Amino acid sequence: MKRNPTTLYLAAAIRDAGGHVARPGAIAVRDGRVVDAGHPNDISRRLRNTARTVELPEDLLLPAMVNAHAHLDLTHVPAVDYTGDFLAWLKQVRTARPTDFDAVGAAVAEGLRLSREAGVGYVGDIAGSVDAIRARHAVGEGLALPGVSYLECFGFDTMLDAAADRIEAWLDPLPFDVPVPGHVRGVTLGIQPHAPYSVGRTLYDAATRLSHKHIYRLSTHLAESPAELEFVRDATGPFVDLLRELGKLPDTLQATGKHPIDWLEPNLKRGRWLLAHCNYIEDRHITTLKRTGTSVVYCPLASEYFGHPEQGQHRYREMLAAGVNVCLGTDSLLCQQGVDQPMGIMPQMRRLYARDETAPELLLEMATTHGRLALEFSDTDATLRRGAPAVFTAVRIDPDDATDPLTQALTNDHPARSIHAELTDESND
Ligand SMILES: [Zn+2]
Repeated sequence: MKRNPTTLYLAAAIRDAGGHVARPGAIAVRDGRVVDAGHPNDISRRLRNTARTVELPEDLLLPAMVNAHAHLDLTHVPAVDYTGDFLAWLKQVRTARPTDFDAVGAAVAEGLRLSREAGVGYVGDIAGSVDAIRARHAVGEGLALPGVSYLECFGFDTMLDAAADRIEAWLDPLPFDVPVPGHVRGVTLGIQPHAPYSVGRTLYDAATRLSHKHIYRLSTHLAESPAELEFVRDATGPFVDLLRELGKLPDTLQATGKHPIDWLEPNLKRGRWLLAHCNYIEDRHITTLKRTGTSVVYCPLASEYFGHPEQGQHRYREMLAAGVNVCLGTDSLLCQQGVDQPMGIMPQMRRLYARDETAPELLLEMATTHGRLALEFSDTDATLRRGAPAVFTAVRIDPDDATDPLTQALTNDHPARSIHAELTDESND
């Protein structure tokens, strides 16, 4: 059988979070997968002699990045200035979000296009409707990105079985992929109970139960705002007013006296959760997150847009130091105003580097391998290991500058670009 051709990318530098670091660097690709990566001299002579070469002498090549928390179906919602009133903001978004399939599909496709363009290779999408999941599956090959589509659910159900049946009825007919090593197409299904102020314990329990039955992924917004903490602890505050106004305040609502992470801990123990935000947590919660194997997706620019945390700093570095898997996300495009490449992960990394001087290698882990772990993809994904999908992020650097290439990429303002070697190969066959 004739072997498909190998392509050799010759770059100014390559880097992943798993020990592939070389300057200059080379990545050999065949059949859409990495077959070797390292210093050009370390790539086997046979590969070097037979491969078609692509010269990228001014680029740092990284693995494709993971955006672990996006809202693709909100891509077309017009920009809203945040005035400090989250409820007013939420109401505006609720009324402006698309509802018919074509509008949802256009928003999802545009969100994916912006993601790809910015070097993102995997998306954990919070789908506001079943249509948003269908739309993601329906996009053309040039836009498809693997990842997870979490169906967002709301409600203060009282019956566990009924809640589980309701979610199952939505998710059952949808296309479902389980990621396998090197898979570059799969979109796995997930469930996202929205947040503790819009979802009761029963629905969280139902989601947890279904995740075991069907290998669904689990996510939720948690510990995002002081108003949420007040709602869970005291059953008072602005979210009570909002639910009353919407006619959705449950009769059964009770003060729990607990912080949202303590309140959800039984579910964190029974399932593998990805928690968005965790802007407001205490020391013991870091232990809880670590002990339960819970991942956290931090969306730095979105948290800043909403002014969280109000005091102090987000505790992502303490979480990381304690062994919690913290990855990066954008949240919705609405929270990225004025940001070049608003669906990109590079702007999130650059912000953390500029603001906190977080180590470049740690930022790369958060942007790649930690995101992959959070979405539960295989351990070659988002790396340059042999067998990894040949999808890369390229960032222009100055090859003559002695500064570490990743540090250069974090401090210059060149856009990140996607390289989908698989498609390049196919188009050349
Ligand atoms: Zn969100």
